[in-house]
Amino acid sequence: MTKAVLTPIITRFAPSPTGDLHLGHAYSALLAHDFARANDGKFILRFEDIDQTRVRPQFYRDIEIDLEWLGIKWDEKPIRQSDHFADYQKDLDKLKTMGLLYPCFKTRAEIAYDAMNAPHGPDNFLVLRDAGKEIDNETIAKTNGNIPFAWRFWAHRAKELLGDEELFFTETNGNSTKIDPLLLGDAILARKDTPASYHLCVVHDDARQNITHIIRGEDLRQSTHIHRVLQHFLSLPVPLYQFHKLLVGADGKRFAKRDKAQGLKYLRNSGITPDKIRELIAQSRKM
Ligand code: GLU
Repeated sequence: MTKAVLTPIITRFAPSPTGDLHLGHAYSALLAHDFARANDGKFILRFEDIDQTRVRPQFYRDIEIDLEWLGIKWDEKPIRQSDHFADYQKDLDKLKTMGLLYPCFKTRAEIAYDAMNAPHGPDNFLVLRDAGKEIDNETIAKTNGNIPFAWRFWAHRAKELLGDEELFFTETNGNSTKIDPLLLGDAILARKDTPASYHLCVVHDDARQNITHIIRGEDLRQSTHIHRVLQHFLSLPVPLYQFHKLLVGADGKRFAKRDKAQGLKYLRNSGITPDKIRELIAQSRKM
């Protein structure tokens, strides 16, 4: 009798080393970690550090210390996205060849101004270039000059290329969501100064690290639409998703890295135990 080969479950926690972890991070990390352990799977720690202007070197180790204290162990040496810009560049080139990227020279202020003066009012700040609006040679030539610009994902083109094909993402509870390729507008996938963006790198690394289950906050539900579209065009495997509630403090506000009193390091130094952290998380979940 042949034995079925089951793919092991692999989850990940992917913080940015731009500050101390707080209870919200602890919740996300514990969910992903516990899920892997309960299923004889693997748990991976990945540092999402592409925005080098915001990264502070001490936080790589500080994050590891916080996680170790919580009882979280990872099964592979953590990768740093900043070591992999060349890989992300290959994906960008692929998307460019497919006609799915265009250079955008507008500043944030110009985009906001256009939105304020748009016929339907300032509600819609999304940048969405018409699928039919070709990129002229002059614009392409400008990308070799000194003017800063961003490479945007051309959502209408993506929709056009998809044609009748419908994409979905599925959650661990069985719910499937139909993808709207226009939902996030033409997301920025690279800038001259930061050569790759969160959306591109997260999709690349989840595939490279064979992540089977992505456990993340509800705040990333919308982003999952563009992630699924990128997985399609980059021919990447599609993981399952689980979205967790965002924890809030007693004031009803989400935890923030700048609020030191909710930081794990602060709580640890005030004598709180990892078990108590789990209790605090359970309390916050009810709020
Ligand atoms: N670096 C992202 C964050 O900290 C990763 C989240 C995700 O893609 O699940 O929000």
